[in-house]
Amino acid sequence: MGVQLVDVSKSFKGSHHKDFLAVEQINLEISGGEFFSLLGPSGCGKTTTLRMIAGFELPTKGEIYIEGQPMGKRPPFHRPVNTVFQNYALFPHLTVAENIAFGLEMDKLPRTQIRTLITEVLEMVKLAGYEKRYPRQLSGGQQQRVALARSLVKKPKVLLLDEPLGALDLKLRKQMQLELKYMQQQVGITFIYVTHDQEEALTMSDRIGVMNKGKILQVGTPVEIYEEPSSHFVADFIGETNILTGQVVKQLEEELIVLVDNQLLVTVPYDQKLSINQQVNLIIRPEKATLYPASYDDPSSWLGTVEEVVYIGTDTRYLVRLTEQNVITIRQQNIHRSSLEHYQTGEQVKVKVSADSIRLLLD
Ligand code: ADP
Ligand code: MG
Repeated sequence: MGVQLVDVSKSFKGSHHKDFLAVEQINLEISGGEFFSLLGPSGCGKTTTLRMIAGFELPTKGEIYIEGQPMGKRPPFHRPVNTVFQNYALFPHLTVAENIAFGLEMDKLPRTQIRTLITEVLEMVKLAGYEKRYPRQLSGGQQQRVALARSLVKKPKVLLLDEPLGALDLKLRKQMQLELKYMQQQVGITFIYVTHDQEEALTMSDRIGVMNKGKILQVGTPVEIYEEPSSHFVADFIGETNILTGQVVKQLEEELIVLVDNQLLVTVPYDQKLSINQQVNLIIRPEKATLYPASYDDPSSWLGTVEEVVYIGTDTRYLVRLTEQNVITIRQQNIHRSSLEHYQTGEQVKVKVSADSIRLLLD
């Protein structure tokens, strides 16, 4: 069943009576039990979209369906959803158990049942035995687990999470990412997760919707989004990317030959008709290029000059100039001790990228 957004737009009254379109014609189909992330830069409309699903904002246009039901103007407490915010919003004067019990008491559940539910849910978020603590006696990560427990205990059909790990330090955030994903799989609730952190979205999601300027640009699995970005923006926003701009010089049956900077010929697989001289962008991920010594004799490799070498532990990052206008970043994994600092600044090298690792974009 899940959640559907059909042509959903939201405009806010701006200054000088000009409307500001924060969300523009979003169409989404999120399946029941799916972990779906909305990913995009700050200000792109993620929170506004989530708030409309929750019912804190109403769409200016369009309709939102949850579990097949149109939500119309239903207020938040009449929707089968629950929201977890970045700033936990726990009651400071209530214990962990009292914080979690709060919503259940409002629903007038019997005391014994409330106690059982609290024990269960605290076990799930790995806080068994913390019932009597106050929020100030907990770490940030533990407070966020309580906030999560408070939402999960209500057994919503859909849980909305707005940058819930944003306040945690990197190490704890990475640990919580995996725990959250595991918990989501256990409870089978649909999660709609908002983040501006591409690595977080790739780690946790079944599918990701990439947003920019109020629009959804691409929806896909982490692999699809990373390997087959459909636009310049998505390619650039997700992971590190090299973009080489060139002109089509020749079209063969299933290949294009592209000339970059009047100097470098690149062959890419492509089966749609393009016109000669048309400008295209070639997307190359840094880890998909390999460096060889200048003597390497492969006609499909490119000659370049190393301009910068940066050792970053797991990898070494090389900046290699290919043409007057174009440098490419290449990441080589440091698997063997002997591979460290293999190439020096100023050295000529060959760069090899297999044709099927190059993605061609028209925008
Ligand atoms: P994100 O969560 O992706 O950072 P938001 O959804 O919070 O983005 O905001 C999207 C845009 O809508 C921003 O430009 C923001 O300033 C604007 N906006 C959000 N809420 C309101 C509001 N209540 N009134 C006016 N503008 C708003
Ligand atoms: Mg936001």
